[in-house]
Amino acid sequence: MSALCLRCGEPFKLRLTGGSAQRFCCDACRAAFHAAARLWALAEIEGGRLTVDQLKNTVRHSVHAAPDSQVGSEAIPVAPPETRTRRKKGGEDN
Ligand SMILES: [Zn+2]
Repeated sequence: MSALCLRCGEPFKLRLTGGSAQRFCCDACRAAFHAAARLWALAEIEGGRLTVDQLKNTVRHSVHAAPDSQVGSEAIPVAPPETRTRRKKGGEDN
């Protein structure tokens, strides 16, 4: 079974071992997508088109969001790219 990568549009084979839905063909596409999404969200907030409360509400309703008591601590990793550890291909969970 295959799918199209959300970032590059290339087809990739879905893993057969279960877990959450795969959206990206590789770690590089996943990381690039999430980096762009963070920059977009920051620009939207700075431009007044998105509020922090709206963003919090979105995170709160996410399937992967932590319970309310933990929202904000680990829901969105913000470590600089050079300190991130790469997950092996197919290890995506978001
Ligand atoms: Zn891709």
